[in-house]
Amino acid sequence: MSISLPVIPLATPGQRYSCHGCGHCCRDFTVQLREADRERLDRQAWTARLGFDPTIKLRGQHYLRQREDGSCIFLKSDGRCQVHAEFGFEEKPIACRFFPYMLSPASASVRMGVSFACQSVVENKGSVYNAQAGEAQRMAGEIPEALAPAGEAHLARKRPAEPGELEGLERRLVPWIGGPEPLATRLDGLAWLASTLAAANLDRVRGSRFVELVDTLVTHLADELPHHPVAPAEPRERMLLRGAVFARLEDPKLAIGGRLGRWAGALEQGWRYWRWRGENPSRLVPRVRGLDGPAVTFGAVESVHGIMQSPALTECDELLTRWIRASIEGGRVWGSGYYGWSAVDGLFALSLSTACVGWVARLSAAMAGRTAPDLTDLRVAVRRIDRSAGRAPWLGGNTERVRLAWFRQYGELRRVLAEQY
Ligand code: SF4
Repeated sequence: MSISLPVIPLATPGQRYSCHGCGHCCRDFTVQLREADRERLDRQAWTARLGFDPTIKLRGQHYLRQREDGSCIFLKSDGRCQVHAEFGFEEKPIACRFFPYMLSPASASVRMGVSFACQSVVENKGSVYNAQAGEAQRMAGEIPEALAPAGEAHLARKRPAEPGELEGLERRLVPWIGGPEPLATRLDGLAWLASTLAAANLDRVRGSRFVELVDTLVTHLADELPHHPVAPAEPRERMLLRGAVFARLEDPKLAIGGRLGRWAGALEQGWRYWRWRGENPSRLVPRVRGLDGPAVTFGAVESVHGIMQSPALTECDELLTRWIRASIEGGRVWGSGYYGWSAVDGLFALSLSTACVGWVARLSAAMAGRTAPDLTDLRVAVRRIDRSAGRAPWLGGNTERVRLAWFRQYGELRRVLAEQY
């Protein structure tokens, strides 16, 4: 007998979402099909109407076919979905209907998160999000694994969480992120906390003692940080950050993947990765989907001020706070919502992603000729970085783990983070 767990609404206050038909998700994402989706499309007789099969099979999985620019074959020139227009919302593939809901099951319940790849979510437009849990649960009935019990997250690697530990961690993190300290201090504090917990031997600090430890660390964080000043990042650390940005922006498209094949595709990806590395500031930043404007050099990006200098600091602070909070409260930082990673590893990855958001916002500002990012730049950056979080297989793989381990052991994540804010 299969068990369907209850969906816990997102706790982040004030988060909103309704679809505004921007069509970005139909250009951004590759839609994997379930058997029921393929049956629905067959009934709609697209192959006969289009003269070709609108689905393709790649490495054993079925997907919606994409155009050369990566957009879905059903995306119309007016930005609307042809399946939706002709057959209605319920006839679209479940992945299309479900976006931007994100469900993360644990042992007794499922967290309802939200993807900030969605423009309406980033701009906070539409209905109150946490009131939509019933709708998410109804649709998730078509994705049984999204409502099936999963293992509880670990606190650290090889260290299963004891009852109350993760809740205690979250209870202290959320007020810190939304607290009164300046944005840069709060982000620095998050990275410092992740580094401190990663370095600590938590085997001897269990249950309520762990929660007390976190409580003490967070209570004294604002006083403690000035005693641990942040030096400028080393060139190698900046290069590592650019590698992390590349990994988060990486956007392989079916049309290209299918044409090149597995090995040529891997070589081509290696070439693109190489172009993001190197220390030459006069090298041009490769093109990034969703960022329009003239090409700029890596040096130009690094000359843009951090987000604390933004003329829209209040709005940028609101967006970053909401994004981080919704990521934590939506179960997207550790456990089943983030590659089954432990809380400590997940917090570390979140801090690195936050640094990547800052870097992409500076890139967007450089392309627009601004000296500091504004809200438009930050929105683009959050959308681009969040789209891969918990989804792109390589971000849960060994390369990312090695990158994080390097930052943990030899580098200093706080340094690259501070340079972006
Ligand atoms: S099927 Fe429709 S909703 Fe889904 S990606 Fe294609 S155009 Fe968008």
